[in-house]
Amino acid sequence: MAPRCSIVPPYLLSRLVEAGVPLEGDVAALATRTLATDVRLRAERPERARARIGRPEPGPQRTVDDAQGGTDLPGRTARREGDPPSGDVAVDEAYDGLGATWTMLFEAFERDSLDDAGRPLPATVHYGDRYDNAFWDGERMVFGDGDGQVFGRFTASVSVIGHELAHGVVQYTADLVYRGQPGALNEHVADVVGALVEQHAARQRAEEATWLIGAGLFQPGIDGVALRSMAAPGTAYDDPLLGRDPQPAHYDDYVVTDEDDGGVHLNSGIPNRAFHLAATALGGFAWERAGLVWYDALRDPGLSREADFAAFAATTLAAAEARFGAGSEEVDAVASGWAGVGVEPDR
Ligand SMILES: [Zn+2]
Repeated sequence: MAPRCSIVPPYLLSRLVEAGVPLEGDVAALATRTLATDVRLRAERPERARARIGRPEPGPQRTVDDAQGGTDLPGRTARREGDPPSGDVAVDEAYDGLGATWTMLFEAFERDSLDDAGRPLPATVHYGDRYDNAFWDGERMVFGDGDGQVFGRFTASVSVIGHELAHGVVQYTADLVYRGQPGALNEHVADVVGALVEQHAARQRAEEATWLIGAGLFQPGIDGVALRSMAAPGTAYDDPLLGRDPQPAHYDDYVVTDEDDGGVHLNSGIPNRAFHLAATALGGFAWERAGLVWYDALRDPGLSREADFAAFAATTLAAAEARFGAGSEEVDAVASGWAGVGVEPDR
């Protein structure tokens, strides 16, 4: 079963509904529609990664389809791998973002696509009528155009594309249950990959990066910089319409709720901050050390699908030790990252 992993969490969409924004193409009505559409899709759990295929020249295998404002998937094919730019901004941004994600996974982690076996990367753009979300449905990436007042088109953020595709990587590796703490870890790993894709594409060092997820999605007039901040969870937006970013940055502030699959988009702020602390303590390109440690942890067969924060923290420490050695600065950085957010690793 693959959950439908959306980038805009339900509590944010509810704010749009409550606010009842009056405008042409009423955002509130659109948000209601988005909530109604965001039912969980059921998909067969994919088989574990097949044996590596010996492709002579590995590269992304992208197809971008156009739903043309409808909700039938996949839609009409708009650009295949190797095709020149289509001229449709959403199509071309999706194509480039899929490419940037494939390239980061391959160059930083030597991973050949989501399943490490060259899995094709399908995406659909122009999904729905001003649809306020983007999601991974277990099969493909799907992007709405946004309502135009609060959200613009969802292909505009490379970190969003990396985030959604990372749900595919999780699906093929740790397959963390999308609920409660393992669900927040699933969201967290997706944010880590999203941030790393953006940093890798821009060749940004940890200390230069914004650590924002979904920068550029908010339309002018919205008081916010992104959907989430990994460096300072809870500070990404504070807007009369959207309210204040509700993410906790410390385990003391863990949110217990039944909504949002048990707060998966909320409590991910806690491990996000731990990763940011570890990566900035180490400095340099975050994918080279902290990112690699997290990637190793994700693939550790000992990591349960139902891992909580303490178990995941312990797995990252073991991964840092295995790759960089006991007593290394990498182990210290990872330990201080978790300590900084109040998570005590399992022993
Ligand atoms: Zn997600």
